[in-house]
Amino acid sequence: MWIDCGIHAREWISPAFCLIFVHYSLSFYNQNPDITQILDNMDVYVMPVMNPDGYKYTWTKNRMWRKNRSSKKNTSCIGVDLNRNFDANWCTIGASPDPCEEIYCGAFPESEPESLAVANFLRSHKDSIQIYLSIHSYSQMLIIPYSCSMDEAENHSDLYEMVKQAAENIRRYYRSVYTYGPGAKTIYLAPGGSDDWAYNIGIKYSFTFELQDRGHYGFLLPPSHIQGACNEALTAVKTIALKVIEKTQTATGPRETV
Ligand SMILES: [Zn+2]
Repeated sequence: MWIDCGIHAREWISPAFCLIFVHYSLSFYNQNPDITQILDNMDVYVMPVMNPDGYKYTWTKNRMWRKNRSSKKNTSCIGVDLNRNFDANWCTIGASPDPCEEIYCGAFPESEPESLAVANFLRSHKDSIQIYLSIHSYSQMLIIPYSCSMDEAENHSDLYEMVKQAAENIRRYYRSVYTYGPGAKTIYLAPGGSDDWAYNIGIKYSFTFELQDRGHYGFLLPPSHIQGACNEALTAVKTIALKVIEKTQTATGPRETV
């Protein structure tokens, strides 16, 4: 499983989730049966901040910055939307070729060092990585492919069942409402996203989570909400990871003990 956080600079709950996930994994392995089963069955790659210069900029200069901080020739506008910079219907409707826009797709797919580095890592590990997970905020949604077109994913019913179950678990444990479904139909067309790209290279369990809240605080979620927001996301991650383990083991038969 791969989890990245902080593609978008101002979505501060996202890097917080990656750190809480690691802390939880290290603290509750061999205590909580779910995380124990997950870590016994898979390696987890965690990238806590995928957009470090953008993230730093939100702490120092502009809290509402979204893109990275790359500069380019012929424009004084800064930054590329890293979640429009992947090669999935790149720069079509829902992205912008204008460097001054918030959803600027970049000069070409993987033009940015951040997206290129992640894409290279995923390409070279695509045969072992089963789950791609990207953490964003806000709006409380569990998104499955596709966001870059109105097409339905080939394993749509599996993916849909997983996010439905995850949303039901969150509702049961925390009484929070999460909507779920394919990105293009649930939010809006968003081409060039990392989740669709990962899906298309063969990582068939690909998700984007939008964490708390539903718009009251928006990106400015107060510190008192961090733990609750992350607990909800953790419930969703566990639900999905356990389901994928179950499916993988059914597909290959029970593990041989050596
Ligand atoms: Zn985002």
